[in-house]
Amino acid sequence: MTDRDVLISGAGLAGPALAQQLLRHGFRPTVVERAPALRDGGYKVDIRGAATEVLKRMGLYSAARAADTGMRHVTYVDRNGRRIARLDADLLMGRRGDDLEMMRTDLTRILYDATAGAVEYVLGDTIATLAERPDGVDVTFAGGGTRRFALVVAADGLHSATRRMVLGEVPLRHLGAHIAIFDVPNELGLDREEVFYTEPGRMVFVYATGPGAPAKVGMVFGSAEPRLGREVLADRFAGMGWQVPRFLEVLRDTRDVYFDSLSQVVLPRWSAGRVVLLGDAAHCPSPAAGQGTSMALVGAHLLAGELAAAGGDHRAAFDRYEARLRPYVERNLALGVKMAGDMVPGGRVSTAIRNYGMRTLKYHPLKRRLIERVTRPLSEAANAIELPSSPATCWSAPS
Ligand SMILES: Cc1cc2nc3c(=O)[nH]c(=O)nc-3n(C[C@H](O)[C@H](O)[C@H](O)COP(=O)(O)OP(=O)(O)OC[C@H]3O[C@@H](n4cnc5c(N)ncnc54)[C@H](O)[C@@H]3O)c2cc1C
Repeated sequence: MTDRDVLISGAGLAGPALAQQLLRHGFRPTVVERAPALRDGGYKVDIRGAATEVLKRMGLYSAARAADTGMRHVTYVDRNGRRIARLDADLLMGRRGDDLEMMRTDLTRILYDATAGAVEYVLGDTIATLAERPDGVDVTFAGGGTRRFALVVAADGLHSATRRMVLGEVPLRHLGAHIAIFDVPNELGLDREEVFYTEPGRMVFVYATGPGAPAKVGMVFGSAEPRLGREVLADRFAGMGWQVPRFLEVLRDTRDVYFDSLSQVVLPRWSAGRVVLLGDAAHCPSPAAGQGTSMALVGAHLLAGELAAAGGDHRAAFDRYEARLRPYVERNLALGVKMAGDMVPGGRVSTAIRNYGMRTLKYHPLKRRLIERVTRPLSEAANAIELPSSPATCWSAPS
């Protein structure tokens, strides 16, 4: 073992992004991933503000841009499927300048391809135990074997098991809603379009990146209790109009459903000894924020840069990583709380007001400016960090 051997737990987005940058700084990252193969499927994610600059520095922006979903518009419908409003997708989702949106699976593949062959990926395995020594961490793997690494990075998501090993059980901040995402046949023939339908306490959306692509359905409902199982979905969405009965029918026969509470990870510290947290494991803002991917990329960039600059002093690197990243994270966590609150309208009155606002928006002479004002907090949060430009913590690569 050398002080350049780093174990990363989790090959989602944060893990491979860190591995690529550590590699370029001369480290030797190993990534252990619980899933037996790289996870495909999933939803679309936004990359905004500072994170687009990170992708450029990683030399991956062009590849990401080429995979942009190219979503054209967002349509709001009533319970009979009649159109309430149709809006430009980029405008409504607060994407500006070089911001982009891509399928999570495409980003995973781009990050993996950028590291395959140079980074050791151990798939279908997990960390069983961690024991810190003066010069490293002894890691026992569930699949057998023990290895020593200089550092361990927990990039294993919202419910990080590595985090639990070093910090114990940490309570998640439940934002009062649950979300389910699953594929349905694209029977509506959606072509780079997303459709939303809202009722008090529940919201359903569906989108497809092309008429030949499967459609993704999202179901969001208000929930006081954080721990629920997906079996509640049929009950919670019973009686809704539009296509919802059809979606529930597909759901009955679907095994691959993403189902979780909208929850945040809020921690006073992101490291313990030689173990450091990254991405959702450290500061999940909840899917409602639409910023988790960007935060994971920015965090990976800063952590890699600080480790390179610290010359083996991991404590200094972890402190500087945290000091630089925390104000940006706080801003985006606050955004997540607000967006989760806006996602599911509470009662009949607020739903009716919202639909009325949507319906009349097209007549508003300053429609564009009005929407830009509403989405400004998102682009501000996405840019609420200045990336270091010193050669020690930043390197440039052609994008
Ligand atoms: C429905 C939904 C919609 C979203 N929409 C957006 C959006 O529009 N914009 C945006 O920016 N973000 C969005 N996000 C958030 C975004 O997906 C996450 O913030 C981002 O993926 C965080 O990356 P990560 O690598 O930290 O964690 P993850 O992507 O969760 O990756 C964690 C990895 O660790 C693996 N793992 C788990 N446990 C273990 C273990 N014990 N050992 C080894 N490996 C393990 C997992 O299999 C996974 O591969 C959304 C999230 C969801 C769920």
